[in-house]
Amino acid sequence: MIIWGSYVMNKELKTGEFYCPHCSNPRSFIHKLPRRWGHLYWIPLIPMDKYDSYIECQTCKKTYNEQVLDHDPRRDKAAAETNLSALIGQIMIHVAHAQKTELSAPSITMTIKDVLGLETLSPQAEETYAVPMDKNAMLDLVREHAGLLTAKGQEIVLVKSVGAIPLTPEVGRLVGEIGAAMGMTASHVNGVLADLAQNPAAPHLVEPALVPSQEQRATSA
Ligand SMILES: [Zn+2]
Repeated sequence: MIIWGSYVMNKELKTGEFYCPHCSNPRSFIHKLPRRWGHLYWIPLIPMDKYDSYIECQTCKKTYNEQVLDHDPRRDKAAAETNLSALIGQIMIHVAHAQKTELSAPSITMTIKDVLGLETLSPQAEETYAVPMDKNAMLDLVREHAGLLTAKGQEIVLVKSVGAIPLTPEVGRLVGEIGAAMGMTASHVNGVLADLAQNPAAPHLVEPALVPSQEQRATSA
C-alpha cells in the first residue's frame, strides 16, 4: 500500500523578543511560515498551499500577524521621553534666555524628571537640550509634541519654565507664543501666568503631566 497525503509544516523564519499583547510583557516569539506539503510515506515532496506567516508567543502560544512587532510600549515610551525632554528643555532654555538668565543642564534635567515623573532620564533624552535650537525650531517642536502632554501638563511646563522670576513683557510674549504652539488660547496662557504671579513660590506638579496610555484610558473609561 502506498501511503500519501499532505500535512502542514511550519518553517521558522526568525526568532526574537516582542511585546506580547496577551501577556502584556516582553516575550520571545517565533515567526512561522506554515506550508502544506504533499508527502509520500511521510516524506514531504510537493510544496502545496502557502499560508500567511504569523508570530507566535512562546509563553502563551497566542498568534498574531506580523504588525504586532511594530507595537512596543517600551519603545513608544522611550520616544515620548525623548520628545518631551526636547520640548521641555528647549522651552526652558528659551524662556531663561528671555529672562536673561542661564540654566545649567542639571537643573533642566531635574525639572524634566519632575514634570514627567521619572527617576532618571536616558542619555538620548538629555542630548536633546544640550544645544539650544533656534526659536522657530523650538516652536515647531512644541506644535509637534505638545499633544503628548495633558492640558495640565502643558500648563505645568509653562509654569516651570517661567519659574519664580517676575514676568517681563518680553517673557510674556514668548510664553504666549509657546502656549499658542501648544494649542492654548491667549486667555488660557494669561490665566496660567496670573496664577503663577499670585503664587510664584510653588509651581509644583499636582498631577501626572503625561497623557495616559491607551491601557490606562481603557480601564478608566
Ligand atoms: Zn504571550
